Amino acid sequence: MSLSVMFWTIVMGAAAVAAWGIWSHRRRTPRYPRCGTVMVDVPRKWSRPVEIPSFTDPEVVYVVNPHRMTCTCEEFQRRRHAKWGSIDRMCDHIARALVQIGAVKHGLLTCILLNRSPRRCYHSVGRHLVFAFEPGDRWIDIYTYDDSEDGHRMGRFQRYGYHLDDQRWSRRKRPPNRDEVLRQIRRLFR
Ligand SMILES: [Zn+2]
Repeated sequence: MSLSVMFWTIVMGAAAVAAWGIWSHRRRTPRYPRCGTVMVDVPRKWSRPVEIPSFTDPEVVYVVNPHRMTCTCEEFQRRRHAKWGSIDRMCDHIARALVQIGAVKHGLLTCILLNRSPRRCYHSVGRHLVFAFEPGDRWIDIYTYDDSEDGHRMGRFQRYGYHLDDQRWSRRKRPPNRDEVLRQIRRLFR
């Protein structure tokens, strides 16, 4: 075997090992937390109908019964079979009504209802951090303190986007407690 042939054999061998590494890394099944939901308990005293104007056409008004969690809009027809109290049952009007009448008070829950994630599954860590995700989707949503100067201190919340593989924040918005958030991401998502 000439020297040059040996060299190429080694280089190609190294390339094959690297390719195998990338391939097996890609193939590793991603892990997500257990798929939970957000539940809101709305007592019977909030049975009075609430009118919520359409977000797209101010001429249109929908009627929400907060306690029963019903709405006259079309979107609710698709959600009506979801469990009572769960966020899956809430169209945007129900979510808005619950916040408006004061049935929901905690800042984090208010933020989740008013900035709905398109992702179905929720996982909470304490009272200031909630992940929304869809198994298989590498973009996740994170609800935690807002990024204003005193958001952390005042207990104000907002929604962030994060990509698990690229390890980057959507629109460069990062929470003030990102070290803790990243630690939880490493623990919960693989
Ligand atoms: Zn509705």
